[in-house]
Amino acid sequence: MTITIAHLTRRFGETEVLRGIDLSVEKGELVALLGPSGSGKTTLLKIIAGLDWPDAGVLEVNGEDWLQKKAQDRRIGFVFQNYALFPHMTVRDNIAFGLTVRPRETRPAPAAIAGKVTELLQFLQIPQLADRFPAELSGGQRQRVALGRAMAIAPELLLLDEPFGALDAQVRRDLRRWLREVLQQAGSTTIFVTHDQEEAFELADRVVVMGAGRIEQVGRPEEIHDHPATPFVARFLGMTV
Ligand code: ADP
Repeated sequence: MTITIAHLTRRFGETEVLRGIDLSVEKGELVALLGPSGSGKTTLLKIIAGLDWPDAGVLEVNGEDWLQKKAQDRRIGFVFQNYALFPHMTVRDNIAFGLTVRPRETRPAPAAIAGKVTELLQFLQIPQLADRFPAELSGGQRQRVALGRAMAIAPELLLLDEPFGALDAQVRRDLRRWLREVLQQAGSTTIFVTHDQEEAFELADRVVVMGAGRIEQVGRPEEIHDHPATPFVARFLGMTV
């Protein structure tokens, strides 16, 4: 799916949180929204998800006006920071959740759901966790399950908000490598939010640097690293190196 965003603005009261965002994302791309806290990354992600609406601007997906489309019709998978799995459900049932709650007409048969979940458990390299409950998992394992739950609905677009936010540095590094492989294989278009430049540079095909509601620079990681386009970008990179 191709995403086109143009002149997007959003304000909360007096605060202009998004001040005219223009961005295109190609099918299969892995894009990072990188910037300091409060720069508008999550708000932009929520608008794409259909959890928030802009005051003005364009959001098109495959040429279709997505602002007219309800969140549940957008075929999006989410992973939020500290994403809560259902504590009373096993890993298998957590992953199956998005399929089992579908209306009867579009719900796959139980055997088909079970097959899909088994396939995902293999794909995510966690088949041994199928019958465990969330409380019995490590943080990194929970994030894998959360991604499995997001991927179960075969989303056209995956949106990840600080997917490794709460984890320690070594686990983040392991998961990064794993996530990149999984997403490449799945061919999903993915947008993820992070304030961690190492994460953005290592994972993303393209990095979008945001500051105070504007896009400061968009480019491949090495372009941004070698040629920061604005003093803000240079400062931000220097600050968090
Ligand atoms: P980031 O993800 O880059 O940290 P956010 O998009 O979460 O930034 O927030 C950008 C700004 O918008 C912040 O100043 C935040 O306080 C404000 N904001 C976000 N959501 C709301 C809301 N629902 N009501 C009021 N202000 C909000």
